[in-house]
Amino acid sequence: MKVSVLIFLMMISIDLLAQTDAELVNQTVDQHMIKGQIHFLCLDALKGRDTGSPGLELAADFIEAQIKQFGVKPAPGMDSYRQAVPFTKTKPATTSVLSLDGVELNNPDDFFILDADNVFIESNELVFVDFGLAEDYKDIDVKGKIVIANAGDGESSDPQSWYYLSKEKNKLASQAGATAVLELYLNPKAPYNFVKRFLASSESMTLGHLEKGQTVVPHLMIDASKDKTVEALKSGKTSLTINIDGIQKEELFSDNIVGYVEGTDPALKHEVVVYSAHYDHVGIGQADMAGDTIYNGARDNAVGTTTVLVSAENIAKHPTRRSALFVLFTAEEKGLLGSKWFVDHSPIPLADIVYCFNSDNGGYNDTSLASIIGLERTTAQSMIEEACAAYGLKAIEDPAKEQGLFDRSDNVNFAAKGIPAPTFSMGFTSFDAEIQKYYHQAGDHAQSLDYDYLFKFFRAYALSARLIGNADEAPFWIDGDKYTELGKALYNR
Ligand SMILES: [Zn+2]
Repeated sequence: MKVSVLIFLMMISIDLLAQTDAELVNQTVDQHMIKGQIHFLCLDALKGRDTGSPGLELAADFIEAQIKQFGVKPAPGMDSYRQAVPFTKTKPATTSVLSLDGVELNNPDDFFILDADNVFIESNELVFVDFGLAEDYKDIDVKGKIVIANAGDGESSDPQSWYYLSKEKNKLASQAGATAVLELYLNPKAPYNFVKRFLASSESMTLGHLEKGQTVVPHLMIDASKDKTVEALKSGKTSLTINIDGIQKEELFSDNIVGYVEGTDPALKHEVVVYSAHYDHVGIGQADMAGDTIYNGARDNAVGTTTVLVSAENIAKHPTRRSALFVLFTAEEKGLLGSKWFVDHSPIPLADIVYCFNSDNGGYNDTSLASIIGLERTTAQSMIEEACAAYGLKAIEDPAKEQGLFDRSDNVNFAAKGIPAPTFSMGFTSFDAEIQKYYHQAGDHAQSLDYDYLFKFFRAYALSARLIGNADEAPFWIDGDKYTELGKALYNR
C-alpha cells in the first residue's frame, strides 16, 4: 500500500516536471463543467440572450463569476471585467412620408429612413453638397435647408464604410444647421434593393449614444437609380415634405466581458493573444412548430462562449508565455457591434494584440472535424491542425465560402485592423439542411448537442490556444492575404 502510494506520488512529480501542453489541457477541461456552462447559458430564463435584455445580463453575471473563480484578472487599465458598450435602440416610424412636389415616394421601394427623430418639414430650400463631407460645407450656407448628398465618398464602394460615413455626414449636416439629409444611393457592389432589406428593418440597434448637445436630423436614403427623382432633387427647385412619426429611441449599455492572464515569458508577455466569442443571441422570436419562441442559441454561441471559458480556466491555471485576453462580446447578432466597439476602445494597444482566436458557431454536421474559418489564412494553421489531431479531429478550412462567414463574425473587426483572426467552429462540410435546422432557430437547444464530440472540440481549441500562446514566434497572415499589408503596418513588420 505504502509503496504504491509512493510510486503514485513519484509519477505525479515526474509528470509535473515535463507536462506537455496537451497534458495541461487534459487536467483542466472537464466534461461535466462544459455541459453545465452550456446548459446555464441556454436556460429559458435567459430568454435567448438578446442584447439589452435582463437575460443577457444574467449570462454576463455568470461569465464574470466563472472567469473570476478561475483566477482571471481584469485587463490592465480596467477596474472590472466589464467594458460598457453604449447602444441606441430604435423602434421604426409608424408614419413615414416623403413627397416631391406633392407626389409621394414609397418606403422602402424609393427611400428608407436611416435615422431620424419624429419631425414634420415642408421646404423648397434644397442644397446639393456633393458627398456631404467636411470640405463640401466650406463655401455654402445650409442653415435651415435640406441637404442633398451623394452616398459614399466617391472612392470606396464598401457598403459598410458608406454606412459609417452616413453617421458622420449626419453630424456634419446637423452642425451646419441643415434640417434634413437626403443621400442619393447608387452602389453597384451593393444595390439599393439589397441594402434596404437590412437597413430599413423593423427594430434596430446602433453603436453609441448622442453626444451632449448633438441632434440627429432626419436622414433618408433615396434610390438613385431612379433618374427623375434624382434630377428633381439635384435641381433644387422642388418642394419637399417630410413627415416622420412614431419613432421611439432608447439609449442603453450592454457589456463586453474582458479578462486577462499575464504571460510567463519576460520577452513575450507584452504580446497578447485574444480568445473571443460573442455571448449574445437573438432573443425571443417567431414560434416554431412546437410553439417554442425562445431562441436559446446553444450552438450560436453558447458553444463559442464555452470555448473561451474553457481556455480561460486552463490558461489561468497554467499561464502561457504570451499574455492572454479573454473577451466575450455583446451584440454580435446586431451587426458585430460589441467587437467593433472593443477594437475601437481596446484596453490593450492593438499593436500588442498579436492574434485573435475567435469562436462562433452556426451548427455542425460532421463530428470528425473542426471547421476553422480562415484556417489557411494565418501561419497558426499547423498549430491548430496539430491540436485538433491530438483529439482525433481534422481541422479544415471554411467549407462554405459562398456564405462569407469570415466577414460575418467578430473576427473580421480584428482583421480590419490588421490582427490575424480566424474563427474556430464546430465541424461542418457545407451550410446544409442539418445546419439550417438549428441556425437561428428556436430548436437550438443545449439538449440537442453531442457532448462527447464537444469534449474533443473544446480540448482542441484549448490546446490550439496553448500552442499559439507558447510559440516562439507569433503567427501572422500568410503572404498575399487581403489583410497582410494592414498587419505589416500595424506591427511595423
Ligand atoms: Zn454567432
